[in-house]
Amino acid sequence: MLNGKRIVILGAGFGGLASANILRKNLSLNHQITVIDKKDYFLMGFVNLWILNGDRRFEESKISLNNLKNRGISFIHDEIIEINPIKGYIKTSNQKYEYDYLIIALGAEYAPERVEGFVTNRGYNLYDVHQILDIRNEILKLEQGRIVICITNFPYKCPPAPYEASLLINDILIKNNTRNNIDIDIYAPSPTPLPVADQKVNKDVNDLLEKNHICFHPLHKIKSVSNRKSLEFEFNSEKTVHVDYNILIIIPPHRSPSIVNNSGLIKNGQNWIDVDKFTLKTKYENVFAIGDVTEIKVDKNISIPKAGIFAEGQAKVVCEQILNDIRNQSSNPRFDGKGFCFMEIGNKKAGFINTDFYNFGGPLTILEPPSEESYRKKIDFEKNRLNDWLG
Ligand SMILES: Cc1cc2nc3c(=O)[nH]c(=O)nc-3n(C[C@H](O)[C@H](O)[C@H](O)COP(=O)(O)OP(=O)(O)OC[C@H]3O[C@@H](n4cnc5c(N)ncnc54)[C@H](O)[C@@H]3O)c2cc1C
Repeated sequence: MLNGKRIVILGAGFGGLASANILRKNLSLNHQITVIDKKDYFLMGFVNLWILNGDRRFEESKISLNNLKNRGISFIHDEIIEINPIKGYIKTSNQKYEYDYLIIALGAEYAPERVEGFVTNRGYNLYDVHQILDIRNEILKLEQGRIVICITNFPYKCPPAPYEASLLINDILIKNNTRNNIDIDIYAPSPTPLPVADQKVNKDVNDLLEKNHICFHPLHKIKSVSNRKSLEFEFNSEKTVHVDYNILIIIPPHRSPSIVNNSGLIKNGQNWIDVDKFTLKTKYENVFAIGDVTEIKVDKNISIPKAGIFAEGQAKVVCEQILNDIRNQSSNPRFDGKGFCFMEIGNKKAGFINTDFYNFGGPLTILEPPSEESYRKKIDFEKNRLNDWLG
C-alpha cells in the first residue's frame, strides 16, 4: 500500500459503477477502490418497462455486484449507516471505513407512503421492480375501465418514463384486444408533460399521447387514494377533482436517502446534496456527490434531471479530478450538462431525446421521432454498460 490511496464509493448504481470502473482502469492496484451497497445486484431502471411489456424477467436481468471483485474492485454488501465528512469516515452495519476520497452516489429513495391512502389501498409503484409483474398481470386481466398513471411530485427519476409506460400499456392492451374498452389517463402536477424540456418537445410528446388516445391531465396534484377506487386531486391549486380508476400506477414522491439527511451534506431548507455544478465537489475536502442524490440548479425552474446518463457523465468528471490529484497532474474537467435518453413507444420503437442543460442560450432539448434504430440504441445502451462495468 506504499502511497496507495483509499477511494470509497457509496452506492453501486449508475454513478458508483461508472466511477469504480474508470478509477480501476486508470490506477495501479496499490490504490484501493471500495464500493459499498446494501443491494448485491445491479439492474438498470428502464428494465422495469421491459418487464412491464413482457420482454424481460427480473431474475435474468439483474447482475451480481460480486463481479466487481474480478476487476480488482472491492465490493462490500452492507448498509451504510453513517457518513461523517468532517472526521473523514463512513460506517456500515458491520465496519468503519476511512477514506482519502469519497464519492457519494446513493441515488434517491421512494416515499409512496406520503400519498394518503396509497399503501392501504394497494396502488402500484412503477419504480419498484418487484411490483411490475403484478402490474402487468392486472393489466392483462382488465376487460374494461380506466388505468391511471399518476406523477405525484417533482423531481422524479427519468422524466419520460411515465409516458413510456403509458405507451407500452397502450401496446399491451391493443395486443390483448381490450384497448377499445380501457382508458389510459396520466395525471401530473405540472402544466406540461416534461417541464424540463422546451415547448416543441412538449408538443411532440402531447401529440404522441393524443395519437394513441392517451389523455394527459396537467396541473393535477394528487391528494389521496380512497378505498372505493377513487382518487382526489387538487386541480390548479384551487379546485378538488375526483377520478375513478381500476388500476392505479404512481410515480412515487422521491427523497434523498435518510443516511444522507443526517450527514450535514444537505443545506438547511434543501432536499438534496448541494454540489458545484461543474466539479461535483461538496463543501468537504475530497468528498464528491453525483447522480440522483444531488440537486444541480440550471436556472430558477430547472434542475439537471435525475437520470443515469447524468450520473455517469458526472462520474467521469469526478474521477478525472481524483486521478489528477493522485498523479499531481492538472487539467480542468467540468461537467457539461449534456445527456440523452430514450422514449420507448412500443412495437420495438423509441424516440431519442438529446439534451444540453448548460447551453449558453438556456437548456436545450430535442426529441427525434420514434424509430427502430433508437430502440436498438437503447438495447445497446444497457448491453455496453453491463459489459463495461460488470461483464
Ligand atoms: C423506470 C425507470 C426508467 C429509467 N430510464 C432511464 C433511462 O432511460 N435513462 C437514464 O439515464 N436513466 C433512467 N432511469 C433513471 C436511472 O435509473 C437513475 O437516474 C440512476 O440509476 C441514478 O444513478 P445513481 O448512481 O445516482 O443512483 P442509483 O443508480 O439509484 O444507485 C444508488 C445505489 O445506492 C444504494 N444505497 C442507497 N442507500 C444506501 C445505504 N444506506 N447503504 C447502502 N447502499 C445504499 C442503492 O441500493 C443503489 O444501488 C430510469 C429509472 C427508472 C425507475
